[in-house]
Amino acid sequence: MTERRQPQLRRPIIVWFRDDQRLADNPALSHAVSSGCPVVCVYVYDAEPRHGRSLGAAARWWLHESLRELDRALRSLGGSLVLLSGAERETIEAFASAVEAVEVCWNRRYSAAQRQTDASIKSALEAKGVLVSTFNGHLLREPWKVTTREGQPFQVFGAYWRAARLGFSPEPPQPAPDGLPFYSLPERARTLAVDLIDLKLQPHAPDWAAGLRETWTCGENGAQQQLQHFLAHVLDGYAASRDAPAHDGTSKLSPYLRFGNISVRQIWYAALATAQSESIPGEHLHRFQDELGWREFSYHLLFHFPPLHEVNFRRQFDAMPWRHDAQALRAWQRGKTGYPVVDAGMRELWRTGWMHNRARMVVASFLIKHLLIDWREGESWFWDTLVDADEANNPAGWQWVAGSGADAAPYFRIFNPVLQGQKFDARGDYVRRWVPELSRLPDVSIHAPWLAAPAQLEAASVRLGETYPFPVVDHPQARMRALAAFDALRGGA
Ligand code: FAD
Repeated sequence: MTERRQPQLRRPIIVWFRDDQRLADNPALSHAVSSGCPVVCVYVYDAEPRHGRSLGAAARWWLHESLRELDRALRSLGGSLVLLSGAERETIEAFASAVEAVEVCWNRRYSAAQRQTDASIKSALEAKGVLVSTFNGHLLREPWKVTTREGQPFQVFGAYWRAARLGFSPEPPQPAPDGLPFYSLPERARTLAVDLIDLKLQPHAPDWAAGLRETWTCGENGAQQQLQHFLAHVLDGYAASRDAPAHDGTSKLSPYLRFGNISVRQIWYAALATAQSESIPGEHLHRFQDELGWREFSYHLLFHFPPLHEVNFRRQFDAMPWRHDAQALRAWQRGKTGYPVVDAGMRELWRTGWMHNRARMVVASFLIKHLLIDWREGESWFWDTLVDADEANNPAGWQWVAGSGADAAPYFRIFNPVLQGQKFDARGDYVRRWVPELSRLPDVSIHAPWLAAPAQLEAASVRLGETYPFPVVDHPQARMRALAAFDALRGGA
């Protein structure tokens, strides 16, 4: 009792924030509060991890905003976020010694490199007599808890998701603590802390983030606003609207989930409650839950299989005769392929740091199959430009499209970018928004301007090869080339 009133008399517990940048439903934070010890909240930024991936540029932008919001939230409780910079293991160990921590706690991460780092930190701290406690703050189910009857990991989504849900309800989310007994840092620990600006997460010269700033309100409050918008305006109709890239038809919660500004449990229960109270037809809720299930499945794959962003899940694809074509890759990256729906997707990504799922599938298929460029090139471009760039979902999505992944789309299914546009953007609204130089073309030719009559092009001020490119490849020829490459692969297997 006396100790609680005078927390400085006790050694502190460190809450190490990572991809869980929120106060509500944060098991590591709740554990620290219930320990009765004074609390220190830290984040460690390692610009160049020895193992694992450095953050891409768009994710760094989000991280800056998200850390600022987390600090603000902690300040409203009377404390602050301590920012540290450097290799995670050395930095956490040095800081734990400087504050004489009794315990360090965190929510778990799942890539092989992250798990290796966390395991080595845990042993090093425990060897010095510091307790370590770890929790699940990121997923509905831990990846190792869902297995086949033989105890093996799943490789097919349907079977995985059925098994994951069988007799299982996610833990209900916990509210944010209404107070935290913050520890006052001794001088030797204060000298280790850095300012947010020192992390150099934001772009300058040039500052390309204007579109990101316009699009997103980062952090935990932003996540809650986005969730409320989704529940009020999008969930009822989700199963139908989720495939139309011009519509506000999905949750746009992916970057918040990526950085843990919201937990999947909070989303799960909020969607369930709204569906019940508003009598929303089950198909919409179930479709949305299935998408959260794909996220769980991607983490299951990340946990159980080799580095997903480097290695073909199906090793047969190692022999794929990928082309090296810097010019075509650049045309794809810049949204100048001459296929309007592909260019719209790539420009949405460049401007906002996000791309609609349908467009992600179309642009990925175009790079891999029409241009025959290695899916890893596309994965790394997405990694650098997406605010939701995710260790599990990004490589799993790319391998799914490539056909090299678990439960993937068959390689021979090659999206026709014109038909995809006509089907999912029938009125051309998506193309008009992101490829304004085509905006005056009529619906009938907006997805294939090279087929428009000269008078139509002139009336719309489109000069092919000048104001908008000719297609970088011919669809039928590119399709044949991709199928031939795949046949050779099968022949060689
Ligand atoms: P919603 O439709 O509202 O879905 C809700 C949540 O479910 C999403 O926020 C996401 O966490 C999860 N989800 C939805 N679809 C998928 C899926 N196919 N696979 C795994 N999880 C899913 N998602 C990322 O979060 N980060 C990535 O880096 C990423 N890269 C991708 C790359 C490719 C080539 C492809 C085809 C898909 C990728 N996805 C990625 C999956 C998906 O496109 C996005 O999760 C989705 O578009 C995010 O928008 P939303 O939040 O509005 O989704």
